[in-house]
Amino acid sequence: VDPPDSLLHAFAAAVGAAPERTALAYFDGRLGYRETDELSDSVAGHLAARGLVPGDRVALMLQNSPHFVIALLGAWKAGAVVVPVNPMYKAAEVRHVLTDAQVTALVCADRAFDGYLREAAAGTPVRIVLTACERDLQSRDDPRVLSFERRPVADVADDLVAVARAGHRPPATPLPGPGDTALISYTSGTSGTPKGATNTHGNIMYNVERQRTGQGLPAGSVYFALAPLFHITGMVCELAAGLTNAGTLVLTYRFEPGTVLDAFAEHRPAYTVGPATAFMALAAHPAVSRDHFASFSTISSGGAPLPPALVEAFRRRFGPYLHNGYGLTECTAPCASVPPGREAPVDPVSGTLAVGVPGPDTVVRIVDDAGREVPFGEHGEILVRGPQVVPGYWRRPEATGETFPDGELRTGDIGFMDADGWLYVVDRKKDMINASGFKVWPREVEDVLYGHPAVREAAVVGVPDGYRGETVLAYVSLRPGAAADAGELVAHCRERLAAFKYPRRVEILPELPKTTSGKILRRELRDAAVRTPQDGRATE
Ligand code: ATP
Repeated sequence: VDPPDSLLHAFAAAVGAAPERTALAYFDGRLGYRETDELSDSVAGHLAARGLVPGDRVALMLQNSPHFVIALLGAWKAGAVVVPVNPMYKAAEVRHVLTDAQVTALVCADRAFDGYLREAAAGTPVRIVLTACERDLQSRDDPRVLSFERRPVADVADDLVAVARAGHRPPATPLPGPGDTALISYTSGTSGTPKGATNTHGNIMYNVERQRTGQGLPAGSVYFALAPLFHITGMVCELAAGLTNAGTLVLTYRFEPGTVLDAFAEHRPAYTVGPATAFMALAAHPAVSRDHFASFSTISSGGAPLPPALVEAFRRRFGPYLHNGYGLTECTAPCASVPPGREAPVDPVSGTLAVGVPGPDTVVRIVDDAGREVPFGEHGEILVRGPQVVPGYWRRPEATGETFPDGELRTGDIGFMDADGWLYVVDRKKDMINASGFKVWPREVEDVLYGHPAVREAAVVGVPDGYRGETVLAYVSLRPGAAADAGELVAHCRERLAAFKYPRRVEILPELPKTTSGKILRRELRDAAVRTPQDGRATE
């Protein structure tokens, strides 16, 4: 079956089929399908009346709340291209996105606008601002969803909720086609300056349809938004998949383990997806129990490495199997995943867990530096071709040519395929450590550290070393109540890894730095390590 042309097509069908069903659940509040449709119509009408024309860019800078979904649908109904922006971005990062994407309208929290966004947006093409009251957004204290503490930043900004409630008629804009740009998604910035990948409506709906047919979740299922909606994984696998399936999307503003567990208990979700670090944090929470996970039929871990030790420990303690999935912003979230009912094998040599198998219309090739395909089991760069791969980067013909030669995505990840078609991700090409001429892939060392019972999070980096060129340094955080010293962790690795691979130093931190989507920021740790002279903390 062909997927619907866009989420708006699928959403309209869901509104028709189940107008009274809950589309969005937020703390104690609920919004039905019909109501969500009407609120987003009104936002679309307002944007059009303020002069927004199809093709204009609307930046959406909000956490996981109903406001995000209503503004997204409203912007699409007005024919706009949506630019999701991480609400944690600082002024310079926001200004880069607003200018680079030539954004016309900005939707954000009032406090952020008053605090620094007004200035960040000054001098950019932004001329329409919709703000939502921060008190409403964090409505844990205010059970009425989309109620309004009216504190408009009146001179330039309109109140998003008032606009949504005003009953404006939507413009007569035609629904988007599958080839139209839906999003400009700036890469999460774990490396380099963010570039905007142009995800089309067709890219999104292809992955949504793959997920729907693969997982077989019944219509009306409960989807839990663990990943942030401003990130492509949350946008596609939670928001778009949930609303396409006439499901209920449960939102909790942001990831906070205690709140998430309470919401699991209350809403009994069938599906969620998040980075491995989110599952580590849930497993470490004092209130966690097996019952919290009893309602799930699929839990996916995606967007970051999944240590096999975590999959086993999670299953033993809580029951569910964590399904690995591999994807990038540039392929609109997943391009390989573990089919339901199957389990990903672990490579016996490296101990790496397979990320999955490529989808039916997706071709993954592993090539060497000269671009030649390598045999099964050999390392090379992962290239992806398929209906979820974006046409390119927003207004960057040169970067587009480099990353998508001939439409095929060069992921920058090193991986291999086994003879059964399972794909393994070794690491990012640029994170390779060169220790005395030997290649060390941080992932492999991290997986070994995760096998130690005291380790909660691990990140391995290469730091310059006068003797070896680079030397392996590990950062870890420990499980609550667990004790281990650096020397013991070095010894644990030394027993299990070749001499050139084991970390010469392990540093224990209370917590490792992460992106808001939960990925551990190796680059930040490496930069800090390079700046700080290594002194008596050495354990060898
Ligand atoms: P930037 O492009 O700015 O560095 P980013 O790469 O983190 O940001 P994303 O597109 O969100 O942006 O992340 C994609 C990357 O995440 C992949 O290239 C890969 O390195 C990593 N990744 C995704 N899924 C997995 C997985 N299942 N196992 C290992 N790594 C993964």
